[in-house]
Amino acid sequence: MAELIPIPFDKLLKRIYHEYDRNNSIFDLQASKFYRPDPAIDLSVMFCDKKAANPVGPAAGPHTQLTQNIVLSWLAGSRMLELKTVQIKDQLELTRPCIDIHNIGYNTEWSQELRLDESLREYVKAAMIIEILKRWFGKSGFRFTDSQDALDPKTVKLDTIFDTSVGYDLTGIQSPQIRSWLRSMQNATELIEEYRMQIPDEFREYRDIPFESRLSDSITLSTFHGTPADEIESICEFLLTEMDYHVIIKMNPPMLGKEQLEYLLYEKLAYTDVEVNEKAYEVNITFDDAVAVVKRLQNVASRNNKTLGVKFGNTLEVHNKGEFLQDEIQYLSGQPLHVLHLALVHEWRKVFGAEFPISFAAGVDAQNFSDCVSIGLVPITTCTDLLRPGGYGRLPKYLYNLEASMKKENAVTVEEFIVSSANRNEGKPDIGVKHATLYNTERLLYESMENPRYHANNNRKTPNKIGSHLYLWDCINCDKCIPVCPNDANFYFEIEPVNVTFQNIKIENGKWELVDGGEFTVKKSHQIANFADACNDCGNCDVFCPEDGGPYIEKPRFFGSLGQWKEWNNLSGFVLLRGNEKVTLYGRFKDREYKLTFDNSKNEAVFSNDEFNIKMDWDLSEVIDASADTNTTVNMEYYYAMRTLIKGMLNPSRVHYVNVGLEQ
Ligand code: SF4
Ligand code: SF4
Repeated sequence: MAELIPIPFDKLLKRIYHEYDRNNSIFDLQASKFYRPDPAIDLSVMFCDKKAANPVGPAAGPHTQLTQNIVLSWLAGSRMLELKTVQIKDQLELTRPCIDIHNIGYNTEWSQELRLDESLREYVKAAMIIEILKRWFGKSGFRFTDSQDALDPKTVKLDTIFDTSVGYDLTGIQSPQIRSWLRSMQNATELIEEYRMQIPDEFREYRDIPFESRLSDSITLSTFHGTPADEIESICEFLLTEMDYHVIIKMNPPMLGKEQLEYLLYEKLAYTDVEVNEKAYEVNITFDDAVAVVKRLQNVASRNNKTLGVKFGNTLEVHNKGEFLQDEIQYLSGQPLHVLHLALVHEWRKVFGAEFPISFAAGVDAQNFSDCVSIGLVPITTCTDLLRPGGYGRLPKYLYNLEASMKKENAVTVEEFIVSSANRNEGKPDIGVKHATLYNTERLLYESMENPRYHANNNRKTPNKIGSHLYLWDCINCDKCIPVCPNDANFYFEIEPVNVTFQNIKIENGKWELVDGGEFTVKKSHQIANFADACNDCGNCDVFCPEDGGPYIEKPRFFGSLGQWKEWNNLSGFVLLRGNEKVTLYGRFKDREYKLTFDNSKNEAVFSNDEFNIKMDWDLSEVIDASADTNTTVNMEYYYAMRTLIKGMLNPSRVHYVNVGLEQ
């Protein structure tokens, strides 16, 4: 289902509490994948006058769209989260699928898919949950570090920054809606108080937390490809002055110029099959114009005590030659982009020196993160890599690798690490930080250009497909589809395998009889399902699933409400509702709709639709009574399928979005 439906605050908190308690995970991220900082190392950095406990976080994109995504990023170690871009057009129609990480990344994503108000609420909910988690973990025995201090939310280990992202043109950004939205990010008191009232009993002791009402001080600005330089300047002036935000301008790779970009992309890295959209060279801001704009804006920023920075940067606009995504133009990310943006960082520093703030996003992963830190980039954001198998669970490795590198060089702070990296390579002691940053930048660029891991030849492998097609039940159970989903929409549940020979029910003239049926078999106890409200059909789980068909399409799709189930009547799917002693599952199998109500107090179930009504003994699966408006033969395979799903969803062994609301 392409439309995302935010998950209620209390339900998110209940799921966190019960899932952690029962499954030792949160939103399907195992506690072993939560980042635990080394207390002996200080990874903190300053960004726009604020301290963050480390410089890593998700880039504005699929990992910062919904509350659970932001919380997952944070659990995995992110302390600088660039929230998904908002804009005035908040009812986008995007083609699906929209993410293709077969190897290097392509996407046709854009800004938030939620309404402006919904986005604001997601960010408020996420900020509040993070504050609750900081305190809860301390009490529940989970410790972020061995240092007791780290359990105090005021310590550097947990300092977290939300960086807002807005787009895309002056008119939209100056609109009353965006102005008001940005003001709400600076003072979210009203919403915080609304959600404070919704904190469920499990977390009642956190109802008095003095939640920070200012969610964000900085904006990473995203402009349309082709936005004129003077318009970019006007937007920044507006944000720096009237809106009182620090500003980071996101830059596009064509700023390198056609000659330099294509030299790197084709000659050095050999991505000769990638075709850059020629228009991108013509319409994007040039390097010289960007320099001039930023020099003028530096005065505006300093007069207003604000920070001005740039981000390298945006994805590369290319022609779509594949079959997975539908749009003619798609946006390239991953390994080749890493080298292109390092080249821009290098060029930029030739003009502005080492101290100008640069934020970075381009092919960042666990292997190159330490190098990015060694050149003083803040923040270092990641996206493509987190869409690969393991998902958010790939992030702690970035930080552990950095800690290991720092230990090796006897560096305790990031600044010391920058200097020691330069000294190691230059072989001379006592190099200053500024010089070290510049030296490391140049070295890293040239090393990366030659490094085979960024070259096309090493980036052609695609995920294995084994030739079988998914269906509702049973698969090879690799579970890859769960962590690769940025929204945690896929989950597994457990059942007792089923193998029954069933009979259908013929109802004629008010009488019923059993007639030949068939066999219903589900072989495995481990089953995959999809929670539709959190799925935007991005397609990422399809890319990594070894079987064909796409888990989000073929596996049981559960909606969060009856309204959604009814609205999406062109899709197969289910919704599970609870009332008193009864549980009702509504099910649609292509165009057939059924309802199965299980009454626990009587151990009976009623299987029905518009035509018939059949009362069953739940345990024995024997017919008690059956009636129909017209003569019909009911295919009981659907009864067994729905009975299996009810049992699976009610099985308390796993906590997920479908059963967490049913636990009251
Ligand atoms: S379930 Fe699959 S298609 Fe849906 S949001 Fe997640 S990764 Fe994308
Ligand atoms: S649906 Fe695909 S990715 Fe998910 S567990 Fe089954 S085989 Fe693996």
